[in-house]
Amino acid sequence: MSAWKALAALADLEGVEVAADVALAQNTTYRIGGPADLMVTAHTYAGLVRALRVLAVEGVPWVVMGRGSNILAADEGYRGCVLKLGREFQKMSVDGNLISAGSAVMLTKLVNESLSRQLSGLESCAGIPGSVGGAVSMDAGSRHHWIGSVVRDVVTYRVGAGMQRYLGPEIEWGYRWCSIPSNEIILEATFELVPSTKEAIANEMNRRMARRRATQPMGKPCCGSVFKNPGDRSVGALLDACELKGYRVGGAAVSDKHANFVVNEGHASAMDVVMVMQHMHDEVKDRYGIDLTPEVKFLGFGN
Ligand SMILES: Cc1cc2nc3c(=O)[nH]c(=O)nc-3n(C[C@H](O)[C@H](O)[C@H](O)COP(=O)(O)OP(=O)(O)OC[C@H]3O[C@@H](n4cnc5c(N)ncnc54)[C@H](O)[C@@H]3O)c2cc1C
Repeated sequence: MSAWKALAALADLEGVEVAADVALAQNTTYRIGGPADLMVTAHTYAGLVRALRVLAVEGVPWVVMGRGSNILAADEGYRGCVLKLGREFQKMSVDGNLISAGSAVMLTKLVNESLSRQLSGLESCAGIPGSVGGAVSMDAGSRHHWIGSVVRDVVTYRVGAGMQRYLGPEIEWGYRWCSIPSNEIILEATFELVPSTKEAIANEMNRRMARRRATQPMGKPCCGSVFKNPGDRSVGALLDACELKGYRVGGAAVSDKHANFVVNEGHASAMDVVMVMQHMHDEVKDRYGIDLTPEVKFLGFGN
């Protein structure tokens, strides 16, 4: 792989911004992570296609990132290119009860648009700090309501195959997972919502936001839940029963407010977080025989 040759070629491309040695700590909500060799922001579809061609020619691995709100980046960073979507993917349009949003639209903006248009269906996404692309990829939502249930269709791009369009029901939606292949970049999604009243939607969003404020460590760098719920059981309750709140390694600690949140107290390394997670995993395994699965995505840990 030649990141440097790729950098030179990418710098000449229209519709593309490129930078070398970009701190992932500045691009993730965890505020943790060493440098990515390259970071490319594709502002246009044509720019994205050209950038991916350069990366393929130079043999540079890539990964797509939204707002980095579900990512723990390694202290060593990422030996490859982090790909972000820019301007052309920040557009939104409304047609009756359908809202189409580019991948780079902030989820909060989409949720607010649904409120102002009096369209219900996205309330469970209120307060999730991600992008539309990240939310679709992760099937984000609450424990019982996921964004996939209101997806009408998704447009993606795959190197060698071009644009793909999937109808919502053609996609398998799982718990913080969907069946869109991991080598495809989500470009846009359309959500089919249900007319309601502003009051009903606002009430539901406010209820969820109040719950977040009461149960989550607002304002501390983190990635949300670190582990998935095992089946019907609440991972937070299992971790709580293991008396893990406050457990810490270096600058990473299990939140006092929510036992499934590991927060960065200001100077945590990725390894601190991994060690806290390992301890949480082992305690639950010892006590309940349950192998917890991470919800957070790891970047740069040999991947
Ligand atoms: C305080 C806090 C609270 C949270 N609460 C919740 C919650 O209640 N429910 C919930 O589900 N999540 C929650 N999260 C986690 C996170 O916000 C969601 O998973 C969110 O959807 C991730 O979006 P993102 O844009 O940040 O994606 P990233 O973190 O950047 O990426 C996540 C994954 O999506 C992939 N991805 C991103 N963009 C694209 C794209 N365009 N095409 C293909 N793949 C893509 C990435 O490769 C990666 O695998 C919370 C996080 C925080 C920090």
